[in-house]
Amino acid sequence: MRNTLLQGLRPPLTEAAPGADDPELATLAAAVKEAAERTLGRSLAIRHVDAGSCNACELEIHALGNAFYDLERFGFRFVASPRHAYVLLVTGPVTLNMREALKRTYDATPAPKWVIASGACAADGGVFKGSYAVAGGASSVVPIDLVVPGCPPTPAALLSGLLALLMGRAK
Ligand code: SF4
Repeated sequence: MRNTLLQGLRPPLTEAAPGADDPELATLAAAVKEAAERTLGRSLAIRHVDAGSCNACELEIHALGNAFYDLERFGFRFVASPRHAYVLLVTGPVTLNMREALKRTYDATPAPKWVIASGACAADGGVFKGSYAVAGGASSVVPIDLVVPGCPPTPAALLSGLLALLMGRAK
């Protein structure tokens, strides 16, 4: 009991939050803002598809919406339907159960459209590669325009990926 109580007094095992005036992020944000204004004019609608992720990728995607990264200031927003989206953001290794859903979501997204495979699993199955239960990455089901590496990719890596799309540097 004593040991359990003492363990509870340890500092939290989390990484330190980035500083509010992180110069790297400020540079990235300025580049994304400029590219978004020039390329999009108004906004870019993103539909996220969880194709069997462990949910760590989702935690980083959710962080894009917090006050620190504030994705909406660039005109990017997540939408509830692929019919309103220009970008599909796919996470997870594409389980066999999600294969048809991903295909239908892609078909329901009007052209022109971009598909981002976010994270090692969406890239090629990641740690689940070879499993009997997965299709083996988003590219096995739909054409991919950009892969954002990482397990999971950080919010800054996702922003860099969106910037690459806007600048036409995808693939
Ligand atoms: S890439 Fe990593 S964090 Fe993302 S779903 Fe796969 S195992 Fe989870």
